[in-house]
Amino acid sequence: MSSSKTSNIDSLGEFGLIERLTSDFNIKNRTSLLGVGDDCAIIELNDKESLLMTTDLLVEGVHFNLMYVPLKHLGYKAVAINVSDICAMNGRAEQITVSIAVSSKFPVEALEELYAGINLACDTFHVDLVGGDMSAAYAGLTISITAIGRVDNNIITRRSGANSKDIIMVTGSLGASYMGLQILERENEVFKANSNVQPELDGYDTLIQRQLKPEARHDMVELFGQLGVVPTSMIDVSDGLASDIFHLCAKSGLGCQLFEEKIPMDDKTKLTAIEFNISPITCALNGGEDYELLFTIKQEDFDKVAGNPNLTPIGYMTSKEDGRNLVDANNELIPLKAQGW
Ligand code: ADP
Ligand code: MG
Repeated sequence: MSSSKTSNIDSLGEFGLIERLTSDFNIKNRTSLLGVGDDCAIIELNDKESLLMTTDLLVEGVHFNLMYVPLKHLGYKAVAINVSDICAMNGRAEQITVSIAVSSKFPVEALEELYAGINLACDTFHVDLVGGDMSAAYAGLTISITAIGRVDNNIITRRSGANSKDIIMVTGSLGASYMGLQILERENEVFKANSNVQPELDGYDTLIQRQLKPEARHDMVELFGQLGVVPTSMIDVSDGLASDIFHLCAKSGLGCQLFEEKIPMDDKTKLTAIEFNISPITCALNGGEDYELLFTIKQEDFDKVAGNPNLTPIGYMTSKEDGRNLVDANNELIPLKAQGW
């Protein structure tokens, strides 16, 4: 570093940092159709199909706590979150590579558990493990997975394709994963204070499952095909609805209007949020790790999706000047704030 003036990483935030580090790169190969900035890179293959590529890094103590995350679940989740990014481009995942850095304090059997989870996910999502890398680490466990997929050129869905008045939709329900994490954290605190107390996880299984073993919505990608719907834009909900709709708005150069009452949340999530003194809508907006698909469709396609229990309309895209807003339960328009966690 030549200059003595340094900047704090936190001052830029994750997306500011990525932008700062990558903005000087130019694309040199015509096969690199889409670079940094979407859920996957798009790589030219042939007239009919393109390749998709994505990578995600999970660091112990930052992304997971082995006090309550079983290694088998961790392996499964690490694959699922990559497959989810392929789904977010309307594609099908086909291969993964897995790289791990691990302290020698981990027994072989622990890593076998991790790989049992990876294997289960490979079966569930129909992907092949085709390589990786392995390194010793001073401490802890770090996993990096790269996934490669394939998508027909006429259905590739980017974050940038939405138009004003497009209907905003989401698959499944939101907020459960965040509440699952709150339960696990609470019981972990209780356990740390007194290791004789058994954790009270009964009745919270569905929430904990959503946190520990999220599913990539490849079934929804298939459903889009069956319904004959090509979303105009799409992203997977990893950081929370607010942050992720911001990405669709920013990349598409638009604003949005969401309706609080339309946002799908299951009853257990709402009740648990209230138990924790968290407003349910906050879980959906800022919770994250739902790995549902957030997408937009043209109004004329609405008949194709209307009434499908897996697909919920939650708002529509507006012009950029209208801003990004939520119509709350009192019918008041409030500006959305994205605060990932
Ligand atoms: P997602 O949540 O869908 O996995 P991220 O928020 O991690 O996406 O990343 C946003 C975009 O920035 C992606 O296109 C990703 O490939 C790119 N990206 C993230 N980190 C880096 C990095 N260190 N260098 C280059 N590109 C990056
Ligand atoms: Mg994503």
